[in-house]
Amino acid sequence: MKPKPRVHIIGGGFSGLITAFYAREAGFEVHLSEKNRWGGLLGTKTTPEGLVEEAANAFLWTAELERVSSVIGVPLQRTLASAKKRYVATDIPRPLAPRQFLPAVWNFIKAAVRRHHRPFPLETLTGWGRRVLGPEFTEKTLRPATRGVWGVSADQLSASLILAPMFQKKRERRKGSVSPQGGLQVWIDALVRHLQSQGVVMKIEDSRVTINDGFLVLATSWKQKADLLQGFSPMAAELYRQMRATSLTSATAHFARTGESAYPGFGILFHPDHRWKAAGVLFNDQIFENRGPHRSETWIFDRVLSESEAREAVLEDRARLGLQGSMLALRVTHAVEALPLYNTDHESLLIKLKGLTPELKAKHIYLIGNELGDIGLTSLGLRARDLVREMAAQAASEGQR
Ligand SMILES: Cc1cc2nc3c(=O)[nH]c(=O)nc-3n(C[C@H](O)[C@H](O)[C@H](O)COP(=O)(O)OP(=O)(O)OC[C@H]3O[C@@H](n4cnc5c(N)ncnc54)[C@H](O)[C@@H]3O)c2cc1C
Repeated sequence: MKPKPRVHIIGGGFSGLITAFYAREAGFEVHLSEKNRWGGLLGTKTTPEGLVEEAANAFLWTAELERVSSVIGVPLQRTLASAKKRYVATDIPRPLAPRQFLPAVWNFIKAAVRRHHRPFPLETLTGWGRRVLGPEFTEKTLRPATRGVWGVSADQLSASLILAPMFQKKRERRKGSVSPQGGLQVWIDALVRHLQSQGVVMKIEDSRVTINDGFLVLATSWKQKADLLQGFSPMAAELYRQMRATSLTSATAHFARTGESAYPGFGILFHPDHRWKAAGVLFNDQIFENRGPHRSETWIFDRVLSESEAREAVLEDRARLGLQGSMLALRVTHAVEALPLYNTDHESLLIKLKGLTPELKAKHIYLIGNELGDIGLTSLGLRARDLVREMAAQAASEGQR
């Protein structure tokens, strides 16, 4: 019997772990190394005031995510009914209402009929929005929403990169946010246990690239990929070196409850031109059940702030919103250069990187990570599944099975 092909995955954040899951499921012999902690950016702290997520606070639901979660034995909870409402703040927050979308939807349909609805190469999100959805919707909704979600102004973002999932031919159905009770750490811990039980060789070590008899998947963040690729594809390494990233500060604050919230709902996205300090805020205890006894808010800033700066900024925006309650605790997490800057330069770099895929594939090297067009965990998971399918097809065609 032929031995199973071996795959070595470097990087044990979400991308590496989920690639290991699919690779093991496909019958590969899997070695996974992580230099720091399993889960990478992801992590949940249990504090006396309640849960604190250090990066992502939820997945987008897909049937595939539900399947993987059930294999690793973690039930997913849906959002509370109170999370339906979302706000966009120019001077004051207004709830997002379906009627605000109607003119934009109508404009989109008209553009689609003229086959003018897809982003042009190197078009910014603001440019696409004005052209396809109309200037008013772009100004009042699209620009604040994108800053709140990506931490970058829509004036810089590449429309092709941001909207790619929307124009995919076979798009997996995504339906709302989900999270395990107890936060994302519960999911990561269960996945790690599952991989161990399936015989995945897992090591905490700072790995270098060695290619011997199998496949290599680089699942580190973009910066380390530049170093790791240097000896194997100097051109790919150079493209990685040219990538730029954004830094975010996430500040989770707990407050004493003071009756009904003035803005019941998922959270608020802040317009970039209206002097708000934050890009967005999540009202955690109104999104998922059991987030602790107090009011819990996660404030996202599109820059690095010290703890005292973050505290001041949270209190200033809260005062402007008229939110009551004394702060019980504040925990600040910095995601320094953690998310790629999805601008039009990045779009050009990814086109060039795609051109190098055959060269990397010939050397049995595969790449996964949020610099490749998939910031969200659910998209990273789907990419991992497709990557493993490709790897398995390559192994089969080369007669390694
Ligand atoms: C504040 C914030 C909020 C977010 N919110 C959401 C959200 O609500 N929903 C969502 O879907 N997504 C969200 N995201 C995005 C999501 O969290 C990330 O895209 C995702 O976690 C990235 O995972 P990754 O494995 O690709 O990278 P990482 O988590 O960066 O993992 C890479 C790993 O590689 C390891 N590594 C590097 N070099 C080596 C080496 N030589 N040897 C071994 N290991 C190495 C690192 O130690 C690290 O653990 C958010 C991100 C941030 C920052």
